[in-house]
Amino acid sequence: MADERTFVIVGASLAGAKAAEVLRAEGFTGRIVLVGEETERPYERPPLSKGYLLGKDARDKAFVHDATWYAEHDIELVLGVRATALDPAAHTVTLDGVEPLRYDKLLLATGSRVRTLDVPGTDLSGVRYLRTITEADALLDHLRRARRVVVIGAGWIGLETAAAARTHGAEATVVEIDSLPLRRVLGDEVAQIFADLHRANGVDLRFDSGVSEFRGSGGHLTSVLLTDGSELAADVAIVAIGIRPNTELAETAGLAVDNGILVDAGLRTSDPDIYACGDVVNADNPLLGRRVRVEHWANALHSGPAAARAMLGQDVVYDRVPYFYTDQFDLGMEYSGWAEPGGYDRVVFRGDVGKRECDVGKREFVAFWTAKGRVLAGMNVNVWDVTDEIQALVRAGYAGKAVDLAKLADPQVPLGDLVAGVSRPVSGDSS
Ligand SMILES: Cc1cc2nc3c(=O)[nH]c(=O)nc-3n(C[C@H](O)[C@H](O)[C@H](O)COP(=O)(O)OP(=O)(O)OC[C@H]3O[C@@H](n4cnc5c(N)ncnc54)[C@H](O)[C@@H]3O)c2cc1C
Repeated sequence: MADERTFVIVGASLAGAKAAEVLRAEGFTGRIVLVGEETERPYERPPLSKGYLLGKDARDKAFVHDATWYAEHDIELVLGVRATALDPAAHTVTLDGVEPLRYDKLLLATGSRVRTLDVPGTDLSGVRYLRTITEADALLDHLRRARRVVVIGAGWIGLETAAAARTHGAEATVVEIDSLPLRRVLGDEVAQIFADLHRANGVDLRFDSGVSEFRGSGGHLTSVLLTDGSELAADVAIVAIGIRPNTELAETAGLAVDNGILVDAGLRTSDPDIYACGDVVNADNPLLGRRVRVEHWANALHSGPAAARAMLGQDVVYDRVPYFYTDQFDLGMEYSGWAEPGGYDRVVFRGDVGKRECDVGKREFVAFWTAKGRVLAGMNVNVWDVTDEIQALVRAGYAGKAVDLAKLADPQVPLGDLVAGVSRPVSGDSS
């Protein structure tokens, strides 16, 4: 008998597209509608501040699936349409300018949007944000011609775009309200390494500083006025001051929301027929024993499929070790785990951290954030194929098992031996 059910996915980006893929792969034969506000088919965002923005990678490489894939898998891809309302009781979602759509199960994969800066001059040409591929197209065009770029915000996107600006041959200044880049994510010890990296590559870092105004002439940006009164000449400014989750649809429908849509470990919202995944969720992570909102690619890649399985009635426990990566200049790194300043007591370095600003190319190390000997997070820098071991140490650490910190710091002791000492390696979620 034909499956009469309709599964609707709102948000046609990585998490939503992966969920649709897995629904079909798991044998769901009902109707799948994937609705997205953007006009491009689902794509991945990491290249937008890296290979694509550097002019190295083709635009086409960013897309999650070929253009024909959706029709081939009988997935109705509705692009350029915003979902404006949700009625859980009636099981309908209202699409802007289209008839309300009835669903049996709904997946919210609405992601995040940029935080905006509320100062005079943001409408000047040359003042840019970066979230979508269209914005990346425009920014790439600007960077190809730019001479002086000011980046506001020393988070991941800010640092990556500053590196891209330097690679395009422009002068780059990063303005940051805190005293180090990424300090709230990495803590002082490792944040300093990113400051050194950028200085060594000619980036001017201005800490403890904000922006009070963008100034221009003839509609074009000419300078950025800082809160300390200094004025930086600029033809491009990139505002990268973080993101906020797109929770409005969930909120107006009365779903539980608190710094993201609240979901349980099976990615279920407070309504039994509505699931959520990706950037937008604040999920109960049983491994970490707390809720986390993870704003990273790997979470979109894996939580979409996990939510799809949950929608099909499978037992899902989404307990992945949070993971992200970055590439900036000649530094490539992966971070696994969860450690916040104040939540760890020691950072253990294993390998060559480099000699500050003069020795960037030699940075090959792993940093571990530890608490009472337990590994909470690990970051491998220019060292590869160690993610499974690091994640196993993190899993053991969150299970309360300590490691010998002297051995952890010693590159002669294989990470695999340490893992074997505390637990068997476990990778991935159990969904
Ligand atoms: C420039 C850039 C570089 C990045 N680099 C990295 C990196 O190096 N490493 C890493 O780990 N992570 C990186 N990230 C983060 C990563 O891309 C995100 O975590 C990921 O995109 C989240 O995917 P998502 O599908 O949950 O949400 P999103 O990608 O935010 O997609 C949500 C989609 O839903 C749509 N939508 C929202 N509301 C509605 C509505 N009401 N109706 C219809 N459609 C709607 C949005 O328009 C959007 O297309 C980067 C992000 C950016 C912007």
